[in-house]
Amino acid sequence: MIINTHSHIYDEAFDNDREVVFQRALEAGVEMLLLPNCDEKTIKPMMEFYEKHPDNVRVMMGLHPEEVKEEYKTKLAVIENEIPRFARNDSGVLVGIGEIGLDFYWDDTFKNEQIEVLSEQLHWAKELGLPVSIHTRNAFHEMFKVLDHEQDGRLSGVMHCFNGTYDEAKTAISYGMHLGLGGVITYKNCGVKEFLADIPMDRIVLETDDPYLPPIPYRGQRNEPAYIVKTAEKVAEIYNVTTEEICKKTTDNAIKLFKLVS
Ligand SMILES: [Zn+2]
Repeated sequence: MIINTHSHIYDEAFDNDREVVFQRALEAGVEMLLLPNCDEKTIKPMMEFYEKHPDNVRVMMGLHPEEVKEEYKTKLAVIENEIPRFARNDSGVLVGIGEIGLDFYWDDTFKNEQIEVLSEQLHWAKELGLPVSIHTRNAFHEMFKVLDHEQDGRLSGVMHCFNGTYDEAKTAISYGMHLGLGGVITYKNCGVKEFLADIPMDRIVLETDDPYLPPIPYRGQRNEPAYIVKTAEKVAEIYNVTTEEICKKTTDNAIKLFKLVS
């Protein structure tokens, strides 16, 4: 059994074959998908997919840093207003706050607004007792400043698609974070491979971030949840354990972190 802690299967990239893609994931042993939200428009397709597969899907609510533009206050308010009806839901559908973070790669025009939106959503997570799924690109320095300020013992979560240095990995873990490992770990030039074996195995979880960042041998194609197996195999090779062991360990980690109940 594998838990995929970061999938955007509700994305329009899957509009023509979403159910086929989902069946392939089940056949590959992926029993649960955690879906992080992106903006106010993705809530509907995300929840529609949850409603079709309530036994295998959980969701997170959040505003993605790349969606923080002029109208960010309105977007954030829409998402905040959606949270209570899920948080009160006994099915435990809402398991985290995400996808949140900082991304200064393409554009840092809204740098301060991104930091404000991130901090606000970290407050939601702390109040609700939920873990976070954090996206960081070209922004580790600012991210750690925010985490340092906000961590009061209540924050936990995943640095999704972690692609930093060993020092950044250790710092993230010191702030209560897990490292989310996806297709990037299979890439030849990925630096995380070099030190991953020194990261305690109880601080890692698996993900795909589909439809983006497919593992080798699918590079250049659309990524999908089932491809997580390739990442699991690579991670197992790095830790020098069996793939089954990695799947079991990362699943246990995800169950604990996201308080998943079946
Ligand atoms: Zn994502």
